[in-house]
Amino acid sequence: MRCKGWEQEGLLRLLMNSLDPEVAECPEELIVYGGTGKAARDKKSVAQIKERLIRLENDQTLLIQSGKPVGVFPSHPFAPRVIMAGSLLVPAYSDYETFWQLERRGLTAYGQSTASCWAYIGTQGVLEGTANTYGEVAKRHFGGTLRGRWVLTSGLGGMGSAQPLGVEYNGGVVLVVEVDESKVDRRLRNSLCQMKAADLDEALFLVQEAVSRKEPRSVALVGNAADVYREVLQRGLVPDVVTDQTAAHDLLNGYVPAGVSLAEAVRLRVAAPEKYLELSRRCIVEHVKTMMEFMRRGAVVFDYGNNIRHQAAAAGYAEAMTIPGFVSAYLRDYFCAGRGPFRWIALSGRAEDIYTLDEFILTELKDDEEITNWIHFAQARIPFQGLPARICWLNLDQRLCLVDIITKLLREGKLAAPVALTRDHMGAIASPWRETEKMPDGSDAIADWPVLNGLLNAISGASLVSVQQGGGVGIGYSIHAGMTVIVDGSELSRKKATQVTYSDVGVGIIRHADAGYPLAQEISRQYGLNID
Ligand code: NAD
Repeated sequence: MRCKGWEQEGLLRLLMNSLDPEVAECPEELIVYGGTGKAARDKKSVAQIKERLIRLENDQTLLIQSGKPVGVFPSHPFAPRVIMAGSLLVPAYSDYETFWQLERRGLTAYGQSTASCWAYIGTQGVLEGTANTYGEVAKRHFGGTLRGRWVLTSGLGGMGSAQPLGVEYNGGVVLVVEVDESKVDRRLRNSLCQMKAADLDEALFLVQEAVSRKEPRSVALVGNAADVYREVLQRGLVPDVVTDQTAAHDLLNGYVPAGVSLAEAVRLRVAAPEKYLELSRRCIVEHVKTMMEFMRRGAVVFDYGNNIRHQAAAAGYAEAMTIPGFVSAYLRDYFCAGRGPFRWIALSGRAEDIYTLDEFILTELKDDEEITNWIHFAQARIPFQGLPARICWLNLDQRLCLVDIITKLLREGKLAAPVALTRDHMGAIASPWRETEKMPDGSDAIADWPVLNGLLNAISGASLVSVQQGGGVGIGYSIHAGMTVIVDGSELSRKKATQVTYSDVGVGIIRHADAGYPLAQEISRQYGLNID
């Protein structure tokens, strides 16, 4: 304990956790995940944030502007200890060219969704969401299971690595194409993927063997997704499901065009960015055309939150936009019901704290099979990265129940240290090609909601509040708010965690109710959130 309170200490531990080599994709460049999603502007900022958090009083608030600490203000104990805004640009300037220029001058940084607000917990963070997405794919297209089905996808980065286990959870077989062999090896080491094929022939043999035995299996293949997808198509094969999780939202830093080696990509990005972008644009059009052809031949195809279809459309292939997005196609009902990715992190660093909480959740929420199945699977298959943590999709009542369980266990001395509660940036996010695509009232691009979400969380007791742009789909395409609250067993922290949980989930529900979803309207009435 280096700080003057558990909120500051907890946030400091989360910052260091995001940059732990076990957790971050490239800690030496402060890159946590998702292309260039960073935990702080630069190394000097990391040192200053650490030093400021250590000195911060329990009635002060630290301000962070795109990863750089810029001031400390007097506030009060119920106020957040840290507030941040990140990657924001005036709307007419919100494009990558402007952003990269300002980034090169050291004036801003890309924060992704959970990188800059230190809520990242490794691949586990998106794993249940990935399992739920494939679960919905199974329900809607394959009678409830992926047994005997195969998925072709790509990208084994921070988030993409959730795909092998996400497909296996639903009984299916997955072939993941990844251009960087070191990423493949890392996922094999962490048991996030079962096997690596030597070439496409072996990969397809392993896939077909598991499909015919109806056994879950995950196979990684080193290669460029655009090349491999085309080759699979040319062999006359049609996977049951096709998607992609390269970091295609950033065509300069997150995507490797076919014909360019990894080493050459690193060089060209700096030496000839315009040329690189041109190669990426050309390649992504071919890549998405192949995905479209799979769709025509009967595969289920969707954009998995990396904006790939929009990148292809912007490069001249307008038809790409007929590919559905994963949220509007599969996950919207969860958000209408206020159920989404919630995560808790043991600040003690002890795995036993997470297992203790697992046991209580399995008892208290035993009637919810989705939760109990998930906790059992997570215990058996998901390795911790950095601070032990758990992700679970919970609704408002269940999150409030967890706040009470943690408080009670801390008071009884059954947890070694306080726990951080946080979440992914879903709920009241504005993201017209992802979370808010195809809203019934046409409000897809309205960005008031995440700002309201952030402001409300700031008065409701969050320990950290952030408002950012560009998570998932890239600069210009999303605005979202993050929140973290540290639960330390005190009455003040219980009050803060209860209030902010209610506000944070509530604003997501009313956003969907306001758009006209009957389910969200009903849930909003149940919680007394609506104003009618
Ligand atoms: P990452 O940068 O950690 O990993 C991207 C991976 O793609 C890298 O390993 C890279 O080597 C690989 N790659 C790039 N071009 C390739 C190509 N042509 N062929 C094969 N592999 C290639 O990113 P991440 O954290 O895994 O996120 C992936 C994408 O998903 C991002 O666009 C991110 O914004 C988006 N995302 C989706 C969700 C979701 O819920 N679906 C959540 C967060 C982020």
